[in-house]
Amino acid sequence: MKENNISNSKPCFIRVLWCDNANIIRAKAVRVDEIKDQEVSVGISRAQQGVPVMYDGVVAGCGLDPVGEINLKGDMSTLTPIPYAPGHARVMGDMFHEGKVWDNCPRGFLKKMITAIQEEGLNVKAAFENEFYLLKPDDEKRDNKNGRNNKKNINGVSIKPSEFTSFASTYSMDLNQHIISDIVEALIAQNIVVQQYYPESGPGQHEITIMYSDALSAADNQIVYRETVKAIASKHGLKASFIPKIFPDTAGNGCHLHLSLWQDDENILHDSKADYGLSEVGEQFIAGILYHLPSLAAITTPIPRSYRRIRPQMWSGAFQVWGFNNREAAIRVIREDDGRILHFEVKTVDASANPYLALGVVISAGLDGIRKKMELPHPIQKDPANLSAAEMEEMGVKLLPSSLKEALANLKKDKVILDALGEGLSRSYLAVKSAEYEALGKLSSEREVDLLLEKY
Ligand code: GLU
Ligand code: MG
Repeated sequence: MKENNISNSKPCFIRVLWCDNANIIRAKAVRVDEIKDQEVSVGISRAQQGVPVMYDGVVAGCGLDPVGEINLKGDMSTLTPIPYAPGHARVMGDMFHEGKVWDNCPRGFLKKMITAIQEEGLNVKAAFENEFYLLKPDDEKRDNKNGRNNKKNINGVSIKPSEFTSFASTYSMDLNQHIISDIVEALIAQNIVVQQYYPESGPGQHEITIMYSDALSAADNQIVYRETVKAIASKHGLKASFIPKIFPDTAGNGCHLHLSLWQDDENILHDSKADYGLSEVGEQFIAGILYHLPSLAAITTPIPRSYRRIRPQMWSGAFQVWGFNNREAAIRVIREDDGRILHFEVKTVDASANPYLALGVVISAGLDGIRKKMELPHPIQKDPANLSAAEMEEMGVKLLPSSLKEALANLKKDKVILDALGEGLSRSYLAVKSAEYEALGKLSSEREVDLLLEKY
């Protein structure tokens, strides 16, 4: 038996995290005597990258089986004590196999894409802009489910919004002040810079925005953010959920991805003299992302419910268009009041997406735009849903995929994105998502929400 040097006095743990193809955040925790930046690693099965959201088993066709071990090595530069879990700290894990980054590692994939864009002399900075609901048990529906109340047993979803206020309502701010402050305090304690907060338009829906950072930290921050919001809400007796569409008639949860392009320490998106005010490389980068959106969807909006959110006139970017300050365009280029362009957002992203994979494929699409010197079509400065069929035809405006099935079919044909992901990751990802599509498609909407509630 291996000896360890732990004094056995404290329940001190470092959690080594990974986020799998199904976007479940997982960890194995290593017992330590004190939290300092000692090397930590744990073994996990290769099969972990073949596990779908529905159950802990391996899906067919993923190319992985429960034979063979992966070394999940903590990236000690990410070591953070977890403020809401005393005695626990977290590190992001990188998957290694035979001493090399495993080709199925989502974090390894994002690092590869960051290196690829750096080889063009560029850096991407990013932030995920989350929306989430605070929910409480719906006792009436739960009682019905359990056969009480003498009413018909229904498979009703057993949660409802924690309150019923509206967009930016100050009353909502007051009702939720203690929870939001606890979330923000915990985010700050984990070195995340919080910028804005407001109640979003769905009842019980909130948005807390955070500062952009380098691409790898942005994806790491997304993990910290999701964990923190869910953990703090549960301490207040509520459930927080990032599921892209929870209730059919209220706003969806977006997770818009904000991006900017840098050379050395300079943001190079803007060029006041150029067409559209975008630098040549900035335009190419955005054009590449716009072009690949129909297949990126399989990774950035990766669960069947994602497509209940992406609908015209829901501010979620249902059309494959870009525009300046157009909240119905899938790519919204943000032009400041003084004309400068510092960043843009991709709206067709939600927090059921693995942030490493989502950001990685978006970078690979932008890179394709740069390599092929793609040009942007005209910006759309109207709500595309109000265009006539003839106008849509003339302007080349198309709807983005309306189902995961369609998005997966697009991804299977997109050689650029598949090549970027590499053989192992494309195969396991497509197998996991196809299995999820089949299984979740058989559930009623309420059962699907029940199943996903603890996951996202
Ligand atoms: N809730 C919208 C979405 O699903 C976004 C609203 C907004 O623009 O913030 O993407
Ligand atoms: Mg919002």
